[in-house]
Amino acid sequence: MWAAHDRCVLNELFDFISPPRCVLCNTGALWMCRSCQLALGAAPELVCPGCDRAVRSGVTCELCKKLGSPLDQLISAFPYESRSFHAALAAFKEDGCKEVASILSRRLALRCRESIKAVLGQDWLVVPVPASRERQMKHGFNQSAVIGERVARSLHIPISTTLLRKQKGKKKQKELNVLERRNALKNAFAVTGRAPANVVLVDDVATTLATLETCADQLKNAGARQVIGAVLAHA
Ligand SMILES: [Zn+2]
Ligand SMILES: [Zn+2]
Repeated sequence: MWAAHDRCVLNELFDFISPPRCVLCNTGALWMCRSCQLALGAAPELVCPGCDRAVRSGVTCELCKKLGSPLDQLISAFPYESRSFHAALAAFKEDGCKEVASILSRRLALRCRESIKAVLGQDWLVVPVPASRERQMKHGFNQSAVIGERVARSLHIPISTTLLRKQKGKKKQKELNVLERRNALKNAFAVTGRAPANVVLVDDVATTLATLETCADQLKNAGARQVIGAVLAHA
């Protein structure tokens, strides 16, 4: 089986011989045609990460803040229901197509720029959610880090792929009961140093917010005052 890196090298060779087609509809357009880009869907209304109610810029509502929601804001860029979005995501995550990654990340970066106010000074950092060792070994890259790099560049702030680390679980997820699973998630991530005041925590997709909330909790324990979640899509 080809590793993602080898596939990329091969892809580049093929691009040279015959120019790439749209990954979604296979027309002659470069990587993703205009109509497939439109079919990814309009950016969704942003919601409070605590209670899912529509709120301005996805900033956590006062009530959820009081209830201790670890995320201060949640930004997403694509509607989770869009089939085209999931097809594009697979071209990025499974086939390692970096041009599609760029198309998807660009929109999230833009949304972050519009929705996060006052990104000023030194005390900001983009932190991607780390991938499991298995995923990293199989695909050769962490999809969240690829997206995070684009977001960091757009916000003009640094990125750290080492501040948050994924810990190896002793048992497989499938072998755990509900309580064990909750505890395992709590111990799944570790912060390796002091976190800056403001963190933009990046992941590809959030089905539940459990992973983002766990990471946000850990980052706050390590000194962060504000943690903003940024994902391509949120279920
Ligand atoms: Zn197309
Ligand atoms: Zn709320």
